[in-house]
Amino acid sequence: MTVYLVGAGPGDADLLTLRGASLLARADVVVYDRLIDTSVLELAGPGAELIDVGKRAGHSSSQGLINDLLVTLGQSHECVVRLKGGDSFLFGRGGEEFEALESAGLRCEVVPGVTSAFAAPAVAGIPVTHRGLSHGVTVVTGHTRDGDFVDFRGLANPDLTLVVLMGAARRGAIAGELIEGGLDVATPVAVVEKAYMPGQRVVRCVLGELAAVEVAAPAVLVIGAVAELSYSHLQSVVAASARSAP
Ligand code: SAH
Repeated sequence: MTVYLVGAGPGDADLLTLRGASLLARADVVVYDRLIDTSVLELAGPGAELIDVGKRAGHSSSQGLINDLLVTLGQSHECVVRLKGGDSFLFGRGGEEFEALESAGLRCEVVPGVTSAFAAPAVAGIPVTHRGLSHGVTVVTGHTRDGDFVDFRGLANPDLTLVVLMGAARRGAIAGELIEGGLDVATPVAVVEKAYMPGQRVVRCVLGELAAVEVAAPAVLVIGAVAELSYSHLQSVVAASARSAP
């Protein structure tokens, strides 16, 4: 009896690992989150029970109930797949679920997933590191449950790429803090919405404009010199001209 914490990738089933797909095919029960694409769920066998524990951003109080559910299912089923968007260990609370299962004496295995932190820039044609432009990448959350925000002033570094998840709602404050911390207002920004999902869209702007750009969640903010690059045939919306359009 094993519970597998499977990262489903950012959207389309094409980005699920082969291990994830084979576990889904033999799962007795699949417990999934809100952002999971139906094409991924279709990989489950016909006899599998599918349970939606659809958490919404900011409404995560049900985590204790999810942990309890996973323990109960793990005690009564041979193969339980816990499917999460992207990677379970990147802002996915996979660690908490692993702990709950382990302390109940259950076997748990983690299957990594393609995270939106890297897949969203990739689909926009943005390499998160690039010789001469960026020596590294920092991935942070723009929002925490307890309102204890990351210190963006301390993250203002023109040599690094900043990738912000859950940052759409606070984008104005984030941009303001980065500018206060010393980042140039002209720093390139790409907002990648709904990567590998229907309605996928990339908006390009500069840091000083980010507050005024309309953003539809889920979205990843990519901030830094690399955000100007576009090794992709996907068209981007350029924020300034989009705003001045009638
Ligand atoms: N574990 C997930 C992240 C969960 S936090 C992962 O590894 O991808 C949820 C945040 O991820 C969203 O607020 C958004 O910032 C980002 N996100 C998830 N899926 C996305 C997608 N398809 N396109 C753009 N951003 C996405």
